[in-house]
Amino acid sequence: MEPTDLIWMNGSFVAWEDAKIHVLTHGLHYGTGVFDSMRCYETELGPAVFRNAEHIDRLVRSAELYYMPVPYSTEQLRAATLELVARNGLSSCYIRPIVNRGYGQMGLNPLDAPVDVTIACWEWGAYLGDECFSEGVRAKVSSWRRISPDSLIPHAKASGQYLNSVLAKIESLKAGYEEAILLDDHGYVCEGTGENVYAVRDGVIVTPGQANSILDGITRRSIFQLAGDLGYEIVERNIARAELYLADEVFMSGTAAEVVPVREIDDHVVGEGRPGEITRVLQKAFDDAVHGRSERYREWLDVVPAAAALETRDGAGASAPLGGAPQAARAAGADG
Ligand code: PMP
Repeated sequence: MEPTDLIWMNGSFVAWEDAKIHVLTHGLHYGTGVFDSMRCYETELGPAVFRNAEHIDRLVRSAELYYMPVPYSTEQLRAATLELVARNGLSSCYIRPIVNRGYGQMGLNPLDAPVDVTIACWEWGAYLGDECFSEGVRAKVSSWRRISPDSLIPHAKASGQYLNSVLAKIESLKAGYEEAILLDDHGYVCEGTGENVYAVRDGVIVTPGQANSILDGITRRSIFQLAGDLGYEIVERNIARAELYLADEVFMSGTAAEVVPVREIDDHVVGEGRPGEITRVLQKAFDDAVHGRSERYREWLDVVPAAAALETRDGAGASAPLGGAPQAARAAGADG
């Protein structure tokens, strides 16, 4: 990981190497954190964060689901994200906001522990490797099922929940595959360790629905829009494991992974064993959208202000961070 200059922590910009937390941080012990991820792309309008507001909105909703009051408004967090990218001087990067229960309270009642908010960014290339876009990846259906809504909240992007993805990822890597696909607790296809999944059969794109324990991906929402605009039929329904083997095309989508073809699943060749036509069309449409080459999807881009504009605003470059003042006191137990 390549360090950048600054990380935003609870309203201030701190040096990368100083962005530290106590070892008795609640979230470290019990997984009581929620996070999200965005990518910033180079566009002709300048660096732009893809669907920034939607990601921040999902972050805040994930926090609500775990009874964590976020002491900043979505607008403050959105602005802080843009300013962080600008101050780090990056033209493209991955962005990781995290809200977690902090230091000061142990035990399983987290309600009196403070809520900390951090945003970091760094350069991160192709998550599943440079060749994944043109060659596709080999995936394994995991022996681990995706977390059940009876036990946790699949719709939340919560830190502790990712132990499920970590187990599936390790299993697939040790078995010689690049990614895992998890089934839901009923045995239907659910998603990858950090990606939503789609199959194409007879020209129709099918993907698991909201009741299949998926994370409601922002890239998935973009795929729905792009596919619809391109005239493809896209249907949410239960998908049986064998339908993946029998599909003409399978692909995955996520912020880190982007749009990635799957060429083999459990050693069954998918379609022709190389990215299919619909996958390639969607990959290109997505790539055009994130890089600002499609006028139609410009509203998805949150353009990063030039560093010079920030200096003018702050007067001689003084740092009064956007989104700096918390909405409410960060004191322990802000809302209990
Ligand atoms: N499912 C899981 C479990 C994920 O971690 C992710 C990545 N956030 C996704 C799906 C895809 O979501 P998005 O497109 O919003 O990144």
